[in-house]
Amino acid sequence: MFIDHNYKEIIKSIPQKAVLVAVSKTKPIEDIMEAYRAGHRVFGENKVQEMVNKYEALPKDITWHMIGHLQRNKVKYMASFVSLIHGVDKMSTLVEINKQAKKNNRVIDCLLQARIAKEDTKFGLEFNEIEQILLSSELKALDHVRIIGLMGMATFTDDKEQIASEFAGLGEFYESLRSKGCKLEVLSMGMSGDYKIALDHGSNMIRVGSAIFGERNYIAGQ
Ligand SMILES: *Cc1c(COP(=O)(O)O)cnc(C)c1O
Repeated sequence: MFIDHNYKEIIKSIPQKAVLVAVSKTKPIEDIMEAYRAGHRVFGENKVQEMVNKYEALPKDITWHMIGHLQRNKVKYMASFVSLIHGVDKMSTLVEINKQAKKNNRVIDCLLQARIAKEDTKFGLEFNEIEQILLSSELKALDHVRIIGLMGMATFTDDKEQIASEFAGLGEFYESLRSKGCKLEVLSMGMSGDYKIALDHGSNMIRVGSAIFGERNYIAGQ
């Protein structure tokens, strides 16, 4: 009942054009089915094996997003069904996604992950690296991947101004690329603690887990 209630409250509070990715990582099938019965169809996972298991067990009209950092050797397991890959931060990952998508006769949509947090993180690309990839001839040769937008995660902090300035920076960068003719349509930013700030700064896709499903039990679940 909590899931149904939380979900409906969030859906009511966000703009209609924003896509809610319900992040179900570590959560059991029954929890996902509760959100499904409430009408939801877009779910996000951060581990390939877990997403494959859930894909196999659950109704096939669910759309699966991979939101976690991706190991190249795992791409093949989800290439037949994944709908959007959020966290791409390497050309070599795009090459592998392209290869596996081709084997499955598909074009797989991807987002490039920008590094916007002040904290030390290994993941994500600097803005200039994103531009390089988008303009590269290497990318043009990949017929089976399509970069449809950007993704970013703000610093894990209570400082709302810092979070806002990080999201605003990515929002402006996204708009600047669009105004230069890049065909981007998705800006994935915002999680349970900061999605309202993200929506204020141009996000049109939010990835919300604990605010829907409750806190994750890291000891048992990760
Ligand atoms: C876990 C996760 C989320 C959701 O986090 P919550 O704080 O539970 O909403 C969003 N994005 C990514 C990349 C995640 O790994």
